[in-house]
Amino acid sequence: MPTAFIGHADCMKHDMGAYHPECPARLAAIDDQLISSGIAGVLQHQEAPLATAEQLARVHPREYIDAIRSAAPRRGIVHLDPDTAMSPGTWDAALRAAGAAVLATDLVVGGKADSAFCSVRPPGHHATRTRAMGFCIFNNVAVAALHALAGHGLERVAIIDFDVHHGNGTEDIFSDDGRVLMVSTFQHPFYPYSGTDHPARNMVNVPLPAGTGSQGFREVVERHWLPALEDFAPQLVLFSAGFDAHVEDDMAMLRLVDQDYAWVTQQVKAIADRHAGGRIVSVLEGGYALSALGRSVVQHLRVLGGF
Ligand SMILES: [Zn+2]
Repeated sequence: MPTAFIGHADCMKHDMGAYHPECPARLAAIDDQLISSGIAGVLQHQEAPLATAEQLARVHPREYIDAIRSAAPRRGIVHLDPDTAMSPGTWDAALRAAGAAVLATDLVVGGKADSAFCSVRPPGHHATRTRAMGFCIFNNVAVAALHALAGHGLERVAIIDFDVHHGNGTEDIFSDDGRVLMVSTFQHPFYPYSGTDHPARNMVNVPLPAGTGSQGFREVVERHWLPALEDFAPQLVLFSAGFDAHVEDDMAMLRLVDQDYAWVTQQVKAIADRHAGGRIVSVLEGGYALSALGRSVVQHLRVLGGF
């Protein structure tokens, strides 16, 4: 089954201002690299549906969802936190981003695709149950995880978060939930300054000092992530796929290169193949250096799809 590639034009209509790094051009940069690499033609392209209130409400209280909907401006920009804003197109984009994660889960768990990548924005891993922050509004990967658990009846789901920022929202949602194992690496100390203070047993958080490159990253993945994932034996693997730890990304100061994204995807895919029937859903998080983002997504997809 070909790898599904899920997106929607509405995700381009979320606009936090001319100089905001989390910009619509990120998705265009991914599309450009898919075309120039030649893999665009071998992916199964799908349009993201709008997430339903029920799907969002597995993660976020109804009052929070309603407050986000009410905050959406008719024109201009409204800030939800210093980094996170809504434009007139944001509400639909946010529903498409979460809806893509739901569709990806349906396709992969339902055997219609071996793996799926959601090329969507806004990203999600900083969104807690009740708070938008760090460019994130709804926690897309958490919506996918709970759709797999509650909607499809799976019992064990792993979340792999290699974004340069700690996925504090995902941790907030799943701390001490034994159905979920989250493994992550992140620059520390760095925004959002979380993840190191007595994490729950189901959180394998590995802080990395600024300047860490390929070798340091690969060592901690082998030492900390892979044994925990092997023991957990997930039935579905979800990636919170942020590409802002790339050396060319000046949002942060880790020094990964394109090939590290292929390598980490391969390591995790081997575990998914052993325990989860190869089922992998990947949801875009960060990544702000446009060329590096597009190239790294290609590396990730090449391994996911076996291209
Ligand atoms: Zn990030």
